[in-house]
Amino acid sequence: MKFLLLMLVLTATSSKADDASSDYISLKEDDIEFANEYLANFYGLKTERQPESISEVAENMMENKIQEMQRFFALNMTGQLDAPTLNMMHRPRCGVPDVQHFSVVPGRWKKRLITYRINNYTPDMRPEDVDYAIQRAFTVWALVSPLNFRRIHVGKADIMILFVVGDHGDGHPFDSTGDVLAHAFYPGSRFEGDTHFNDAQYWTKHKQGTNLFLVAVHELGHALGLAHSKDPKAIMFPTYNYVDVNTFRLSEDDIRGIQFIYGRPGSIESPSNSAACGPNLRFDAVSTVGDEIFYFKDRLIWQRLPGSPKSNTSLISSLWPSLPSDIQAAYEIEDRKQLFLFKDDRYWILSNLRPQPNYPKSIYSLGFPDSVKKIDAAVFNPLYSKTYFFVDNQYWRYSERRQRMDPGYPKLITTYFPGIGPKIDSVYYYNKHYYFFQGSTMLEYDVLSNQVTKKLKTSSDFGC
Ligand SMILES: [Zn+2]
Ligand SMILES: [Zn+2]
Repeated sequence: MKFLLLMLVLTATSSKADDASSDYISLKEDDIEFANEYLANFYGLKTERQPESISEVAENMMENKIQEMQRFFALNMTGQLDAPTLNMMHRPRCGVPDVQHFSVVPGRWKKRLITYRINNYTPDMRPEDVDYAIQRAFTVWALVSPLNFRRIHVGKADIMILFVVGDHGDGHPFDSTGDVLAHAFYPGSRFEGDTHFNDAQYWTKHKQGTNLFLVAVHELGHALGLAHSKDPKAIMFPTYNYVDVNTFRLSEDDIRGIQFIYGRPGSIESPSNSAACGPNLRFDAVSTVGDEIFYFKDRLIWQRLPGSPKSNTSLISSLWPSLPSDIQAAYEIEDRKQLFLFKDDRYWILSNLRPQPNYPKSIYSLGFPDSVKKIDAAVFNPLYSKTYFFVDNQYWRYSERRQRMDPGYPKLITTYFPGIGPKIDSVYYYNKHYYFFQGSTMLEYDVLSNQVTKKLKTSSDFGC
């Protein structure tokens, strides 16, 4: 090593007459050593001294690696450690190499449900803020791929997340200066999926320090099989760059990358994009939740304020990791801040959006006969304090005051809800109206006058 350094210093001093000499003469031995290490870590430069190697060979090797790095970062390919090159080398970055000379080629997960575990926490942030940043980072990738992520709290997860310092046993120690922010292991490698954050960094949830969410999106990209991108707008670009986390979006390059490996998500991201606005838009379940309306569709929830076509997209698994996707019916009792969710013969209660312990429970405890295997739709009417359950062409009425089914049910939907049925997909109550969804049609139904007051397209809530 000393040998190569000395040689480079000599080259530096002897090339004063070169045009790049102004950059070169300011080089300190520290810079060269730093550059050597950088190129060894991220560009596969071999730094072991080989007895036979003559200075020219070593010099060419270094120059080639500098050019390789300059090409990656779209810098002038001078092959020399000029100021822009050194500046780029000094930017905080990810510890994963930019080229796959010697390290393993990124693999892929062969399954769609990937578990993760947060093994420990940084002292820099509140644990709940760490949880949220990591969960959001997973959601970013889940929304553009068919992958689902589930958090576990014990045992070995596919992706183990750790905050560590210095040498931490995987052969890739972190520096104490924290220039390397984090690294993660590709699927198919020895520590596949594992994601390590350098706790010599100051981790935050905002702009100061290093934003954990942004670095987590990047590192989880590796854990899913993505290599570094040359596109400076990509989250997979090797160096750290703060962007507003509230408006963060993956670049086209990132999305292309993940979809090249895993394909497109199984369902549409937002109903207001053109494909979803088509006649085939259907919802599994719809309910008001506080001020908003939640539309359940496969593994997604679209949240929208009444009167606005804009919606937020979330994954059911990221909002409520313990709940399944493909919810079939939902209703809210607003006064109690309770949300009821149904799938097959089970149901869950969420209180203030938190899943309650001891659920799911069996729907038969509500008084359904064995013949009922699932609920198509459910709605609570606060005027009468009754819940209506729709199953095929019939409905049941449940008294929330008495906590039992009213006698005399089931009844035919078409008989008691004129203009509705024979079957419905989903329904919600808002402002003395029911909104029934039947395939591509939404029917507004006046609760007091018992009649359909409007016929709309299912997608019309989203301004389609
Ligand atoms: Zn990286
Ligand atoms: Zn590590």
